[in-house]
Amino acid sequence: MIITEKKDHKQLLENIKEYKSFFLIGCSECASLCGTGGEPELKEMKELLESEGKKVTGTFVAKTGCQVLGTKVELKKNFKDEVNDSECILVMSCGAGTQSAVDLYKNKPVYPTNDSLFLGNMTRLQMFDERCSLCGECILDKTGGICPVTTCPKGLLNGPCGGTNEGKCEVSSDIECAWTRIYNRLKEINRLDDMKKMTEPKNWAAHKRPMNLNVREKASAKKD
Ligand code: SF4
Ligand code: SF4
Repeated sequence: MIITEKKDHKQLLENIKEYKSFFLIGCSECASLCGTGGEPELKEMKELLESEGKKVTGTFVAKTGCQVLGTKVELKKNFKDEVNDSECILVMSCGAGTQSAVDLYKNKPVYPTNDSLFLGNMTRLQMFDERCSLCGECILDKTGGICPVTTCPKGLLNGPCGGTNEGKCEVSSDIECAWTRIYNRLKEINRLDDMKKMTEPKNWAAHKRPMNLNVREKASAKKD
């Protein structure tokens, strides 16, 4: 899931100071789980804007904010007037959700209320860890399923480095050494020999931005 954090309210209010009326869009998925874009946060934002003398014409929590088509259908069907009556749209999801709204409302200013931080695993309620940085060429098959690209601060493909110390990383004693974890994991699953295999330098071209994928097109190309 995409982990988001609320922007500082002072900064947000400064960004939108010239507008008087707003339509608020949240997201029922990641942003709700992060506490940045579900019903309670939309209510809180509405109260904040109203306390600043602004008008909120409507609020809507999209099922999946980054799904452009689904969000468009939901908004056009149920909130056409409320959106039309607003001068500005505030999106309380991730940057992808904000850009869905930009796609849908070409002639209206759209502002994000959140910062998008990383792709995260939720380990406990509203506690998130970054475990994959979407590098485009996964090496988990070589590392016992633990990602050094993301969880080793140096992103070492072969490790550990000389700084590992009693299972901790030299960069910070708060961080477990990813390569010690990989070693322990491989030992646990009787694959310690994998530690001796060198991983070749990464093909970073596999991660050139902006990425896109058309699953149906790719599948039919494979059949041909
Ligand atoms: S190697 Fe790490 S960053 Fe790359 S895809 Fe696999 S889990 Fe994600
Ligand atoms: S100590 Fe471990 S986690 Fe830290 S940089 Fe070296 S190999 Fe990576």
